[in-house]
Amino acid sequence: MTTHTNKGRAVITGASSGVGAVYANRLANRGYDLILVARNREKLGQVSAAITEGTGRKVDIIQADLTVPSELRALEEKLASDESISMLVNNAGSGATKSLVDSAADELEAVITLNVTVLTRLTRAIAPAFVKRGNGAIINISSITALAPELLNGSYGGSKAYVLAFTQSLHKELSAKGVTVQAVLPGAIRTAFWDNAGLPVKHLPSEIVMDVEPLVDAALAGLDQGELVTIPSLPEPADWRRFEEARAALGPNLSHVKPAARYRVAT
Ligand code: NAP
Repeated sequence: MTTHTNKGRAVITGASSGVGAVYANRLANRGYDLILVARNREKLGQVSAAITEGTGRKVDIIQADLTVPSELRALEEKLASDESISMLVNNAGSGATKSLVDSAADELEAVITLNVTVLTRLTRAIAPAFVKRGNGAIINISSITALAPELLNGSYGGSKAYVLAFTQSLHKELSAKGVTVQAVLPGAIRTAFWDNAGLPVKHLPSEIVMDVEPLVDAALAGLDQGELVTIPSLPEPADWRRFEEARAALGPNLSHVKPAARYRVAT
């Protein structure tokens, strides 16, 4: 489907492959011009050429390693100053599958830098502009490991739990100001992510692995339905509602003047 409505420009990080490349295709079809960001210029060029040919939309490429501070700052400045940008998809991310004790500290830090620090800084760069305009959307790609951190490396699951919590907090701060935010929690998706994380996807049970196109289509359907949190595989939305209700029920008892009775020191 090609639409000729211009919805402004969507910035997609990690758009050279996998989830980001499919977001690029789908958002172009929805009428967005695009700014695609990743390290691999050749792959970005291929994604861009296919979209331009298929949709006629304008696609710009920014080759950047977002873990390099100067390259991250340049994108932050673009986000803060380019008034044509109406959406940010914080998708660039990397994984880790080895146990903590088998991982190098630098590997763990690299995951946290890209999945947490980069996502936070880019969001901080665009949010004031969206608030000023009373309009804009921020899509943050989390993971089901945010809810099931025992599945993979704890730095990865922890980084994605951060993305979920950050997005929930952003929603509270920004929704009344016209800014839409969404956290997407994919399960296992058939992309290069798994090879790069050291566990080729062919080693996973095929019944838990989703193709990338249905994942992105489901995530965008969730966005259209106004969801703050989209879990594409989850059959029953009531299960997530119950989880959130249980969390909310803890609220009134999370901060008191005295410890709970079971922790009081006998005097
Ligand atoms: P992917 O195909 O490996 O995509 C990762 C993207 O991030 C690539 O475009 C990569 O491009 C880019 N990237 C990596 N490091 C970068 C850096 N330092 N600077 C800029 N761009 C960088 O994997 P994917 O599955 O599509 O992953 C996309 C998102 O989905 C990630 O946040 C991941 O955590 C999340 N996710 C994936 C799964 C899954 O099972 N695949 C499940 C849940 C969540 P370059 O190499 O060209 O830089």
